[in-house]
Amino acid sequence: MSASALFGTYARSNLTFDHGEGVWLVTNDGRRFLDCGSGIAVNSVGHSHPHVVSALQEQAGKLWHVSNLHQIPGQERLGQRLIEATFADKVFFSNSGAEAMEAAIKTARRYHYDQGHPERFHIITFEGAFHGRTIATIAAGGQAKYMEGFGPKAPGFDQVPAGDLEALKKVIGPQTAALAIEPVQGEGGIRTIDPEYLRALRKICDEEGILLIFDEIQTGVGRSGKLFAHEWSGISPDIMAIAKGIGGGFPMGACLATAEAAAGMVPGTHGTTFGGNPLAMAVGNAVLDVILADGFLEEVQQKALSFKQKLAALVDTHADVVSEVRGQGLLMGLKCVVPAGDVVAAARDAEILVVPAGDNVVRIIPPLTITEDEISEAVGRLEAALVSIEENNKSKGAAG
Ligand SMILES: *Cc1c(COP(=O)(O)O)cnc(C)c1O
Repeated sequence: MSASALFGTYARSNLTFDHGEGVWLVTNDGRRFLDCGSGIAVNSVGHSHPHVVSALQEQAGKLWHVSNLHQIPGQERLGQRLIEATFADKVFFSNSGAEAMEAAIKTARRYHYDQGHPERFHIITFEGAFHGRTIATIAAGGQAKYMEGFGPKAPGFDQVPAGDLEALKKVIGPQTAALAIEPVQGEGGIRTIDPEYLRALRKICDEEGILLIFDEIQTGVGRSGKLFAHEWSGISPDIMAIAKGIGGGFPMGACLATAEAAAGMVPGTHGTTFGGNPLAMAVGNAVLDVILADGFLEEVQQKALSFKQKLAALVDTHADVVSEVRGQGLLMGLKCVVPAGDVVAAARDAEILVVPAGDNVVRIIPPLTITEDEISEAVGRLEAALVSIEENNKSKGAAG
């Protein structure tokens, strides 16, 4: 094989997939992998969902792109549906998660500027966070490994440990514009933030005139068993970033906000060439058709319960490899005893795809359309992977 033409930013597996059907991905040499990664929480309704495919095909024959200088009916429709289903009054469409977070950050800063407080531009984020890979969102995420070598950290981002209200209160000052948090930290290792803590954040924000931003890029669009994960806590944010699952594989994201929080975003303050294009909107609307259908989210909750119980049984019987099941809905994590990368590789050998995360966790985030039979198949393949690691360790032990 000749050297890759691509930037070396990924350590890729050697798998090449030809097509997908539901939770299955088929390689160019005909092997069938169970996709329990959904890309990374992207293929919310599985691969090649017929309703979504036909929505895209129909739109592709009519109109791909018009500028945001004109009316785009698909945006109005998807925006209206998101508003009706959430706390929000206004929506801005982007192409990705990081851009949705950028819009959220700009919306929060602009709100305070509009109120006569340009000095209030600091955003407080939480250790273990991930908010994207742009210059601003790596500063928001605060992880040194993502900022190293990219110049000075963008100003205006403060970070505190999640769960520590005293530390948070110390950092809040006249400069604070907003708090930004993932209700379940995804890249950070499927760490669920205590709903009690989220309610405490809401209260502090209300008292201090600070905006609350939820990053639901990974947790949103049914992944948690509710349309948005914050619904489990009973409170809502002022601003929310979404992406991943809403496009079901088509690149798109959105920033949702209350009318008050979005008040500063007047003509000229923000924009995007591609965001909200008619193709993306056709797909987003079709994905919502599936996820908002009667009973769909209840089914996600039931399936998640059954999947989690089966994973808990694996933890009981293979405690030398995995130690804990985490997560909410079909956003699940297995905390590993051995390196998480070894479990991901062994799973791949057993023809099931899972995704590594921080905190030595393996993410199990299948399409929300996975069936009970497929859940059993997935657990069987995961068990085969754990057994192969155990056997490997035993033979290493014997050799040593
Ligand atoms: C994936 C992710 C992002 C970044 O999304 P991109 O589409 O890769 O820019 C931001 N925040 C969270 C919580 C994510 O999971």
